[in-house]
Amino acid sequence: MAHDATFDAGRADVIVVGAGAAGLYTALVAAREGAHVVLVSRSPLAESASYWAQGGIAAALAEDDSPDLHLADTLKAGRSASRESAARVLCDEAPDRVRDLESLGVRFDADRRGALALGLEGGHSRRRVVHAGGSATGRRITRDLSALAAKHEGIDVLELTSGSSLWVHDGRCIGVLAEDSEGGTRPLAARGTVLATGGAAALWRRTSNPRGATGVGMTLAHAAGAHLADLEFMQFHPTALVHPDDRHDGFLITEAVRGEGAKLLTDDGERFVDELSPRDEVALAVETQLRDGHTVLLDMRAIDLARFPNILTKLEAAGLDPRRELIPVAPAAHYTMGGVATSSDGRSSLAGLYAVGECGCTGLHGANRLASNSLAECFVFGHRAAQSALDEPQPPEGAPPPAAGPSPMPTPETRDRLWRLAGLERTRADLELLGDDPFPLARLIARSALARQESRGAHQRRDFPVTDPGYTNLHLIVDDKGGVVKELWE
Ligand SMILES: Cc1cc2nc3c(=O)[nH]c(=O)nc-3n(C[C@H](O)[C@H](O)[C@H](O)COP(=O)(O)OP(=O)(O)OC[C@H]3O[C@@H](n4cnc5c(N)ncnc54)[C@H](O)[C@@H]3O)c2cc1C
Repeated sequence: MAHDATFDAGRADVIVVGAGAAGLYTALVAAREGAHVVLVSRSPLAESASYWAQGGIAAALAEDDSPDLHLADTLKAGRSASRESAARVLCDEAPDRVRDLESLGVRFDADRRGALALGLEGGHSRRRVVHAGGSATGRRITRDLSALAAKHEGIDVLELTSGSSLWVHDGRCIGVLAEDSEGGTRPLAARGTVLATGGAAALWRRTSNPRGATGVGMTLAHAAGAHLADLEFMQFHPTALVHPDDRHDGFLITEAVRGEGAKLLTDDGERFVDELSPRDEVALAVETQLRDGHTVLLDMRAIDLARFPNILTKLEAAGLDPRRELIPVAPAAHYTMGGVATSSDGRSSLAGLYAVGECGCTGLHGANRLASNSLAECFVFGHRAAQSALDEPQPPEGAPPPAAGPSPMPTPETRDRLWRLAGLERTRADLELLGDDPFPLARLIARSALARQESRGAHQRRDFPVTDPGYTNLHLIVDDKGGVVKELWE
């Protein structure tokens, strides 16, 4: 790892906070442009959601596919709440980002003819999901990108170090306060600061995410005065393992297995849903069966599990054999459609501050993310943010250093409350109870969910069960004071 004089003075061109897929790629793109980058990484690699990603990256690469078809599927899944301009950017640019990853050395799985093997996933009308090592896509990508970042002389990697608050001066973000694992702090200044801290699904008790996915970037950005958006939209994945042991419970079984023919059955052996419907529909159908007292089982016996080695290994480690038995599953909080509100260049409402990957919200996912659009998002918007951040002015000398920010870690009680009060189906009474939670981000989620008085995609209100056309393309923005305002994003 290189350390140069500018870094020793606590200054860089770009600071990236978080080293999942979005952070690693953003750092590499900025460094490739000649920038001096500091990459601040709180955790070992295996704790990023990116490392756990199983399915792959959605990109219109097949001959019978096009960015327009990908866009149509994305907007359909988003339930008329996607910001179409951002979704178009994603679908247009994802193929180039896949090629760029290949040029960086990521080896995606190939078919017999040597072309990229493309998987089919729920909600996609074409085979368009590139994967690596079968269902080990995230592990392969983060492994390759982190090796590149570690040896790049333009990137200083600060491991086991957290961004503990944003440094704001004269209405601009000029860097972060970095805190090492012993509690030592140090202000770092940069032209552009990019949050890439991942999502907030681990705020909910039952989750498919690493436990650190608690919306840290959103908490830091809100405390610094940046706007958040779409917080009411949390995607619940329909097929997370049900297991008495906490180490195995919540393990996600990718919908790529349903793309290959796995079936969802009740304990009576009945199919109850089209397994390839978008996630929100499948998750709600599973939840309804559970509420009616059924167990829901995933039947993978007829599919070739050699394509999904990590699922096989993980289930075997949990004492289950999916080649012979049915696997009990239930929904778990999985993907945060909302986050720090940004433009299609990753710019937040606070000058100098960017957010990419799951902690950002361009609005592209609307009310429901299409499978495998999130890794694509990390690369498409990471690329754009890296380039825009380099256009920011130099930070001033001598600005007073920032104080430590709010704690980003919720208590177990908060996680329990989010699961009970802001789960797959919500009511006004429950959300009002959550509105008193001591954890600030939980309160903002409750406020956003209360303000959306309709049901749409991942946000289902029992007291407003119908989709209200009046909310089409409306996004709920949390402003710097914590108020919720409606904005039309097209
Ligand atoms: C089990 C699972 C399977 C998935 N499968 C797919 C898939 O097949 N395809 C797809 O497109 N998406 C998939 N997703 C979603 C996708 O993996 C994520 O949306 C994406 O990886 C998010 O990447 P990220 O870089 O934004 O965040 P992350 O990968 O979560 O990385 C964030 C990093 O920031 C660090 N961090 C947090 N706070 C701080 C701080 N204050 N200071 C410093 N560092 C900090 C964290 O420790 C973490 O390392 C899956 C998710 C899960 C959980």
